Amino acid sequence: MKADQFQAPDYYNLDDLLSDEHKMVRDASREWVKREVSPIIEEAAQKAEFPKQLINGLAEIGAFGPYIPEEYGGAGLDQISYGLIMQEIERGDSGVRSTASVQSSLVMYPIYKYGTEDQKKKFLPKLASGEMMGCFGLTEPDHGSNPGGMTTNFKDKGDHYLLNGAKMWISNAPFADIAIVWAKNEEGRIHGLIVERGMEGFTTPETHNKWSLRASATGELVFNNVKVPKENLMPEKSGLGAPLGCLDSARYGIAWGAIGAAMDCYDTALRYAKEREQFGKPIASFQLQQKKLAEMITEITKAQLLAWRLGVMRNEGTATSAQISMAKRNNVAMAINIAREARQILGGMGITGEYSIMRHSMNLESVITYEGTHDIHLLITGLDITGIPAFQ
Ligand SMILES: Cc1cc2nc3c(=O)[nH]c(=O)nc-3n(C[C@H](O)[C@H](O)[C@H](O)COP(=O)(O)OP(=O)(O)OC[C@H]3O[C@@H](n4cnc5c(N)ncnc54)[C@H](O)[C@@H]3O)c2cc1C
Repeated sequence: MKADQFQAPDYYNLDDLLSDEHKMVRDASREWVKREVSPIIEEAAQKAEFPKQLINGLAEIGAFGPYIPEEYGGAGLDQISYGLIMQEIERGDSGVRSTASVQSSLVMYPIYKYGTEDQKKKFLPKLASGEMMGCFGLTEPDHGSNPGGMTTNFKDKGDHYLLNGAKMWISNAPFADIAIVWAKNEEGRIHGLIVERGMEGFTTPETHNKWSLRASATGELVFNNVKVPKENLMPEKSGLGAPLGCLDSARYGIAWGAIGAAMDCYDTALRYAKEREQFGKPIASFQLQQKKLAEMITEITKAQLLAWRLGVMRNEGTATSAQISMAKRNNVAMAINIAREARQILGGMGITGEYSIMRHSMNLESVITYEGTHDIHLLITGLDITGIPAFQ
């Protein structure tokens, strides 16, 4: 793979809107990605292996629980810093960012928000340091966009719960030490349970043959009469709103992350277009290639401003789920379109692992599907502006 020459585009001087702390956090993540992710990520993706050696570094840059308070081992940062860390990691690879998103927003966040003090003390510091890794089980084989239809269930057996069912498409499942599992009780109410590796009847078979997020491990969670101690139920929130609250936080991170992937594709294509000559001139001198590049930087700039404003509202506690849906949908679609155009600018070279673009392009096929599909997020905006749900 080519040496990482990344130079971040900032056409509207977004840096002027960032604090010194934001820039410090962002630059530290950027340097780490250049040093640790870029040199190894292509080979990991080609081999379809999650690069476990990145776990310690991810913890060190604050990617595990950036906004979780320091007393629980988190980095205690604000939402903009969280977003910037996700942007930089996804600039390297969406799969690595997925691991960080799951750990932070789908594992640490529910324990922090819905868990007991004992659960917080037991799990959060180890999750923040990477000593323990987690996954989030919501999707089932027959319930993806409609998680409320889930059939995974638990029964009260007096001194423990008995858990049965299966989850599918679970990031980090093959190596996770714990799983946040969403299941229905005997009354059909959804609750979150912390299921620990080693509990009898709990297995995590790996999903193979993915063409997307190849550097992220994906698997199933299978529960066959798993005895879950009662103290592993997170008591502070139940109902579908509990997992959806986690998804808000993760989707917000994706809105920033997708910008990273887009920036990398744009930067690579711009450099290539200035260097590559055809008909005796750099291909950057042709109007059609300039149109592609000019549209890319325009879309990236709009997405940066959307994410930044959403971050400000998240810091104020005013961002709505529908606003987060809009940013996730817009920014991921923007990134996937840019990846496709950037690949064309590189001609045949664009399909090789010499450059990052094809990997980003394939990764983004998952990113546009998980955490709510492109279509579902549109319907959420539709519901928000009309008051009429069109997806039920
Ligand atoms: C690599 C990867 C990692 C993942 N990681 C996780 C994870 O860690 N944890 C987890 O719980 N899940 C995870 N997922 C699952 C992901 O969230 C689901 O794939 C996603 O929610 C879509 O569900 P589905 O695949 O069942 O598609 P479906 O829900 O079957 O949707 C198929 C198509 O139908 C459309 N559709 C569905 N309903 C409607 C409707 N009412 N109106 C219009 N169109 C509709 C969808 O937009 C989509 O285009 C992951 C998925 C992938 C691919």
